[in-house]
Amino acid sequence: LLAGCNEATTATRAELKVSGPTMGTHYAVKVVGDYPGGEPQLQHDVEQILQRIDHQLSTYKPDSELSRFNQHKATTPVTISQDLADVLIEGLRVGKMTGGAMDITVGPLVNLWGFGPDKRPTKIPSDAEIAAARAKTGLDKLHVEIGSETATVRKDIPDLYVDLSTLGEGFAADKIADLLDGRGIKNYMVEIGGEVMAKGVNPKGECWRIGINKPTDDPAGLNQELEEIAHLCGKVGLATSGNYRNFYEKGGKKYGHTINPITGYPAEQDILSATIIAPDCTTADGYATSFMALGSEKARELKKRVPEIEYFIIYTDSVGNYKTEHSEGFTQYLANKGR
Ligand code: FAD
Repeated sequence: LLAGCNEATTATRAELKVSGPTMGTHYAVKVVGDYPGGEPQLQHDVEQILQRIDHQLSTYKPDSELSRFNQHKATTPVTISQDLADVLIEGLRVGKMTGGAMDITVGPLVNLWGFGPDKRPTKIPSDAEIAAARAKTGLDKLHVEIGSETATVRKDIPDLYVDLSTLGEGFAADKIADLLDGRGIKNYMVEIGGEVMAKGVNPKGECWRIGINKPTDDPAGLNQELEEIAHLCGKVGLATSGNYRNFYEKGGKKYGHTINPITGYPAEQDILSATIIAPDCTTADGYATSFMALGSEKARELKKRVPEIEYFIIYTDSVGNYKTEHSEGFTQYLANKGR
């Protein structure tokens, strides 16, 4: 009888797994139990969503919806899809909450420093180049309007250039989670480039175990040494940002891909890696980048204003010691071991 109460306790349930390349990184989707049409249909449905979002949000595709807005060198409104509008609205919301530390108009600086679709710079940008790029940014210069029929976006300066790289993976994970919810799937894990949307339990009936890497410099992404494991049960999004994968060194100095929109330089903060758990993955993704741009002191302040997120950070303290710290609410995700 007991065994019947929770069949997962004894037998491990069937799991469907699909994976592949996307957005310059990779995705993996695990579904416990059945999916109509099995793995082939699951892979088809997932990749349809990924391709749609790629064509909406990519700055690496010159003909994507976002790229076409960035190329629109005018302040007249442009009609956009609801998806793009939703991501822009969330980006503006998180940007305002973080005092502009997360700034989706930071694209000219991202590209100037070589962390966008353009090549790496041969030399460090000059102060004048940085000032010129900074002049083309500003969250207050981007406006999204949701009408009864359509959504539009407009910019106050023709050269404003939006970069949604910090939110796109999380948004795609949310949209795939919506697909699985719509199919009545109760237990799944969606991972895109390290951003995760999980629901329910894994095939053994336990929480989904998500590793948090040690932030050792690892441009090839081969390091799988873990600092911690988060155990996700229920439905939550988890995103990690760090400057140990996407960086370069010049003149003995390291330049990471998180830009400080205030200075125009790559952020030089004490946080090496920030993992955020939130009700959805888009939000988690945005706040993870924010933590990297803010540093630990301002990130702790931010957490007080944003009760819906929990954090786990790896940072160096004032005397250079390697430290980890998590918000009180993150404890439940560490204590779920084996649940
Ligand atoms: P995160 O911390 O989540 O994001 C960091 C990125 O956000 C930086 O790379 C920069 O672009 C931007 N950023 C930096 N500072 C700030 C700031 N202060 N505020 C806001 N944003 C900031 N990469 C490829 O190499 N090839 C591709 O074809 C490709 N296609 C993509 C398509 C889409 C739809 C998206 C969303 C991204 C794509 N990327 C591509 C980018 C790649 O996926 C990114 O490296 C990744 O999205 C960054 O995520 P992250 O988790 O590594 O870092």
